[in-house]
Parts: sequence; structure tokens; C-alpha cells
Amino acid sequence: MKTTAAVSTGPAQPFTFQELELDDPRPDEILVRVEAVGLCHTDLAMKGMFPDGVAAVLGHEGAGIVERVGSDVTDVRPGDKVILSYASCGACERCTAGHPAYCVRFQQLNASGARADGSPTLTGPDGPVVGSFFGQSSFARYAVTARRNAVVVDPGVDLTLAASFGCGIQTGAGAVVNVLEPGPDSRLAVFGLGGVGMAAIMAAANLDVGQIIGIDLSDSRRATALKTGATHVLDGADPELLTILRELTGGGATHAFDSTAVPAVIRTAAQGLTSLGTLVVVGIGPDVTLDVGDLMSGGKTVRGCIEGDADPQTFIPQLVEWLLKDRFPMPEIVRTFPFSEINEAVAQAKDGSAIKPVLIMDSGATTWH
Ligand SMILES: [Zn+2]
Ligand SMILES: [Zn+2]
Repeated sequence: MKTTAAVSTGPAQPFTFQELELDDPRPDEILVRVEAVGLCHTDLAMKGMFPDGVAAVLGHEGAGIVERVGSDVTDVRPGDKVILSYASCGACERCTAGHPAYCVRFQQLNASGARADGSPTLTGPDGPVVGSFFGQSSFARYAVTARRNAVVVDPGVDLTLAASFGCGIQTGAGAVVNVLEPGPDSRLAVFGLGGVGMAAIMAAANLDVGQIIGIDLSDSRRATALKTGATHVLDGADPELLTILRELTGGGATHAFDSTAVPAVIRTAAQGLTSLGTLVVVGIGPDVTLDVGDLMSGGKTVRGCIEGDADPQTFIPQLVEWLLKDRFPMPEIVRTFPFSEINEAVAQAKDGSAIKPVLIMDSGATTWH
């Protein structure tokens, strides 16, 4: 079938809209009519990596309605509302242990540009187009994806608010719920208040974490963080930040989260931990130098985490439940754009004016901000 996709043709080129041929779903796949798709910084990073002239369809926070299912798919039906997430094999030792984010075939399934067997899902006038991005390539009106990529959700959920649960929101919320596991006595410092950091704050609020401290350079983001669940906010540009953080937390944070990937910020986040505290880093940036003596003497842990170490099939329904109970204030951070304005959404993601851009396919959908 034909689908309209926003195609990347080079690092500096704007997305252009093209009619592409989309392959039929195979026995273990489904065809999804995309209703909304979040824009994640990984889309922009990947766009920068393909050379000029290589056509690619990105998009990995798709959500929509199932149109058709492959012959082996028995637990998803046409009409089901689904949120798409990252791909995993389901069979390796990481997947079977409940950590599909560390699937041994993660790279092949999410970033090879085609299905695992090398066959393309998308074809243009000049041949195969790089697709199957995170197993979905959802900057398009339709996507073919493995059944395992799709999480069936409550029909009452607004997909413009929930589309980004598939990656960015799961990344921040999962790092808190699945990795840091703070509680009411904990003091959590969240460095960087983009969509991922805001998700960490919203999840921490649901765990009734005692102190949730949002740190960012932007006044408006700090103000938004107070609406999403932060108990305190601090200016990341304050030269006394470390001292203020230690005072506020009575000696240091028990847990910290970094999504900035800025070396100096990560260093501050580690120094701002109390003894036996843990810092989770989720952003990729330049190499970081840490004070090993401080880590040793304080028994501190610094670890990485991808996709919130979440199993989408169980974690996304948890996020949806919080959203439906008004305990996950996505309207504070989502800004919607018509699909046709994807380049404007990219511009606002890059300059930071939109915290969580979401593209909507149908002009009749609910808009936010
Ligand atoms: Zn696996
Ligand atoms: Zn992402």
C-alpha cells in the first residue's frame, strides 16, 4: 500500500513529504494507522548520521489504530489502540529475564534500517528507503511493525498525550521506577528538564518521593517542573548550585538523574549525592571525568540505563493508568504540531521552546499548548 512519510534526505535537509510503498504485514506483524508520533532527540541525532542523499524514515514514538494483523497474530485486533515502542527479540537471555532494553539484538532490530532479515518495509522511486527505525518508522501515516513492538492500551487514552510513552517518557519514568526506586524518604535530584527529565519527575511524584528537585537553566522549564511534581527547583547556572543542593537535601541527594549529557552537569550530579547514593545517566554526550575518590569514599554508584530498563508491555499500561487518573500531567509538557509542520517541531525541539513536541496526523485531533 502507499503511505505518506516525512523523509530525511541528509543532516542539513528539512524533512520532505513523499509517497512511499509500504510492505504488507508479515505473519508476526501488524499494520498501524498512526494518529500521533512524538519527536525524540534520538530522531534528530540519527538524522545527523545519515549522509546526504540517503532517504530515511525516522520516528519511534508512534501511536495509533491497528488496521490489519498478520496471520500469526491472535491477541491484537483491527481497531485496537496501540502505542509503539522499541523492538526486542523476546528470546535472548536479557529479554527472558525481563530486561528487553538490553536485548542482544537491540541494534539490529532498532537501527539497521530494515527488518531483521534485511528486507525493507518502505520503498521509494529510487529503491529501498531506510526504515524499521525502532522497528516502526512512524513519521508516516501508516507503519508496519512487529506485534511485539505494539502495546494495546485503554481505548479512552488520548494518544497525543501518550504517544511519547513509547520512548522518551518511558526512558525518564522507567529510570526512576525500575532503576533508582526512590521512596518517601528519598531525595531525588533531576538534572535537565526536557521531556525525559519531566517524566522522571512525574514518576517520582507517583512514588511519593519526599524531595523531588528539578534543575535546569530555563526559568520557564523550572516553573513547569513545579506543575509536574517537583517539590523544589534550582537554577542550573547558579555557581553555588552544589552547596545549595547539599543544604536543601541535608547533605546530598539519595538519588540523581541526568538527561543533559553535559560533562560538568554529570560531575555535579555525582558530587551532589550523599553517601551510598545512585546517579543514573540517560543521555549520550562527550566523555566525562568523575572524581573517583569521591565515588569511593561515599560508596556512590553511577550507572547508565536505556529505555528506562522498562518492559513496554507492562510499563506503558502503568503510565497510561496514571495518565487516565490525572496523576501524570502530560498536558503541561506536550505541544502538538500538524504532521505537515514537522520541520517547525524540529526547530522548537532544538531551541528548547517545545518540551515534548508531538505530531498529529488528523487536524481534528486534540491540540495542546
Ligand atoms: Zn532479546
Ligand atoms: Zn527516543
